[in-house]
Amino acid sequence: MSVQHEQRAILVARSSLPPLDEYVDEIRSIWQTHWLTNMGQKHAQLESDLRSYLGVNGIALFVNGHLALECVLEAMQLEGEVITTPFTFASTTHAIVRKGLAPVFADVRADDYTMDPSGLEALITPRTCAILPVHVYGNLCDVDAIQEVADRHGLVVIYDAAHAFGVTRDGVSSAAFGDASMFSFHATKVFNTIEGGAVCFCDPSLKERLDQWKNFGITGLESVEYVGGNAKMNEFSAAMGICNLRHLDAEIARRRLVAERYWERLEAARGLRLCLPGPRVHHNYAYLPVVFEDDYGASRDQARDALARQHIYSRKYFYPLTSDFECYRGRFDSRETPVARWVAERVLALPIYADLALEDVDRICDILLGLGRGSA
Ligand SMILES: *Cc1c(COP(=O)(O)O)cnc(C)c1O
Repeated sequence: MSVQHEQRAILVARSSLPPLDEYVDEIRSIWQTHWLTNMGQKHAQLESDLRSYLGVNGIALFVNGHLALECVLEAMQLEGEVITTPFTFASTTHAIVRKGLAPVFADVRADDYTMDPSGLEALITPRTCAILPVHVYGNLCDVDAIQEVADRHGLVVIYDAAHAFGVTRDGVSSAAFGDASMFSFHATKVFNTIEGGAVCFCDPSLKERLDQWKNFGITGLESVEYVGGNAKMNEFSAAMGICNLRHLDAEIARRRLVAERYWERLEAARGLRLCLPGPRVHHNYAYLPVVFEDDYGASRDQARDALARQHIYSRKYFYPLTSDFECYRGRFDSRETPVARWVAERVLALPIYADLALEDVDRICDILLGLGRGSA
């Protein structure tokens, strides 16, 4: 690929960065303290900034979202089966399995691709300990229906909220639902600390345990009470988060313009299924999923290829279902989650980021509409 082509390429995501000077100012004090990691000033400051931004008390920062999720599963001392969905990133299912728990897959809803609460009760067994739904694409799950089932059966609810940072419903943050929520601050997410993550939680006694677990289970100068791991966020990442958080609302507002342009252009196309936020929801416009139904003029893969020929890189996010991964061969049957399977075979995540030009959105829409059979 020539340099010229690489410059013109549009990738599916583009990491947010604060102005360079702002970041340099933020990290200057690190040169005075020489404190690079192990819960320093930046770590404390970001935790406090996030508490106010999310409106929650309980938060612990981590080196990434995946280890945050593993850590909370372990800190809650769960055993047995965890009901989750296969229409997600590898991390959700892997975290369950790596903690010695057994995933049980619920299907998703056909309109927003989150866990379908109507099928939950049938999956509960005496071994079920928790429900782990995913706010996929930043679409909030039916948190009320899920909580109702959990309460009736005494189950813990932990959300994979990796996509849902900054999303609120009736002013309530996505961090406030269930017993705990995991966020990812990976470079490609709406809010990033380069790599990073957090767990938000209700039970205040979890704080100490999570903080100890992410630091080898060390509980005092000469005492180690748990077999913990190492999942601490370093000071440079925390500084990046402090800066990025200042610009986040403006970034989300710009993402919204991009998303609305896509929806406006694609809404009338026959056989294209879009995913619009509900009325009580302040969305974060993290992803732009489009489903190519069978009566569209082209398949999802054909659309992906047509965009790629113009150096526009969309992603089959999420395909395959985690229950179809090679590493789980023979353990699950994705035919038991037919909606998730239907969506995974037809969905494409289109490029979206705060500074994606509207002319580029138009160009992408023109290519897609050129493949279709016209208006509904
Ligand atoms: C990104 C992501 C994760 C993992 O987060 P990392 O910070 O990359 O470890 C988990 N679940 C979902 C749905 C994600 O998209």
